[in-house]
Amino acid sequence: MPKLADDLSMTLNTRLNTLSPSKIRAFDAKASTIPGIIKLTIGEPDLNTPDHVKKAAIADIEANDSHYAPQAGKPELLKAFSNYLKRSINVDYDPESEICVTVGATGALNDVFMAILNPGDKILVPTPVWALYFQLIKLTGAIPVQIDTSKDGFVLTPEHLEEVLNGEGKGAKAIILTDPSNPTGRVYPEETLKGLAKVITKYQLFSISDEIYAELVYDNNVHHSLSEYIPERNILISGLSKAYAMTGWRLGFIAAPSQIMQSIRKINAFLVTSVTDNVQAAAIEALNNGQDDPLKSRKIYEDRLIFMKKGLEDLGFELSTPQGAFYIFAKIPDTFGQDDVAFANELASKAKVGVTPGRYFGKGGEGYVRLSYASSTEDLQEALRRIKKYVDNI
Ligand code: PMP
Repeated sequence: MPKLADDLSMTLNTRLNTLSPSKIRAFDAKASTIPGIIKLTIGEPDLNTPDHVKKAAIADIEANDSHYAPQAGKPELLKAFSNYLKRSINVDYDPESEICVTVGATGALNDVFMAILNPGDKILVPTPVWALYFQLIKLTGAIPVQIDTSKDGFVLTPEHLEEVLNGEGKGAKAIILTDPSNPTGRVYPEETLKGLAKVITKYQLFSISDEIYAELVYDNNVHHSLSEYIPERNILISGLSKAYAMTGWRLGFIAAPSQIMQSIRKINAFLVTSVTDNVQAAAIEALNNGQDDPLKSRKIYEDRLIFMKKGLEDLGFELSTPQGAFYIFAKIPDTFGQDDVAFANELASKAKVGVTPGRYFGKGGEGYVRLSYASSTEDLQEALRRIKKYVDNI
């Protein structure tokens, strides 16, 4: 095995030294070594990609559509995303100049952060949050400023945002909002979003809205987008990973005003040239002919949420109003203390149920654990049985 030359060993990109490997992944890897464990740690649908979508990709491969696609995306797919945004949030985006197809929502986040952030820029990140944001932001040399939303039921209020902009976040350039939220499952109320839009405008920020869970909202909750109120400064990110159960296909998109989009498209082309040709064909099929697919997923997740919510509440867990995505952020009952890492470790080793410690999602997550209900109903039932047995025996 080759050993790196001694004179090169200290010359790696020093920015990487500020990044820590994902604690969520590390915890998951450790939990995976426990025989028979049921893992509710993963943010990945257990459902399969719809058959008609798979068939479209197979047909596309057989038709030899396996070349470089246009760099910003196939025109038909750009149009399909534009139509999707029109019907879901009633905002017009020009497929020719205001949309870009990306390698998953993660690729979209990278493009956007690189397009707007310079080293030293501050970007506000309401927490608890999907922790990869921190790493991607730091890779650009920018500074993530955490805003702990736990005091307001895990929703950032306009007042809190303004307070931060006059304190630790003074001079910030942008804010990123995840709605519906991973890890809390909260959905932003329309009035709150409107209020935030006003503050974002007053302080001349870019807003980035990560709407990857937009289709997965339950009960009477409705998803709204900052693009409805401030399309001139919002950069909308979404994709097919969650609602269409297409995580492995790696297909996302960005919608933004054309002046920002020019930079985003440039970066996307530099980084990936273009997104895989036949994956784009599958996405066109999903968006144009699969509008019922997210509804079916939603029904399945909602039934599981109802089941899990009741089960956990009966056991004394306080839940942070799960309304969307496929996560429950549960407060650990007082009898177990408030050390979420210790609790999650105990639950994994003694009850053989894997949940993720809340502190791994940033400030405000301490004392909570995240459970994903994107697991089979049988696994969820068994997990609840095991948690009950564990709790009853303490
Ligand atoms: N944003 C959020 C909030 C997520 O939870 C995830 C996946 N866990 C992503 C983006 C990444 O989505 P993709 O798989 O399409 O890259």
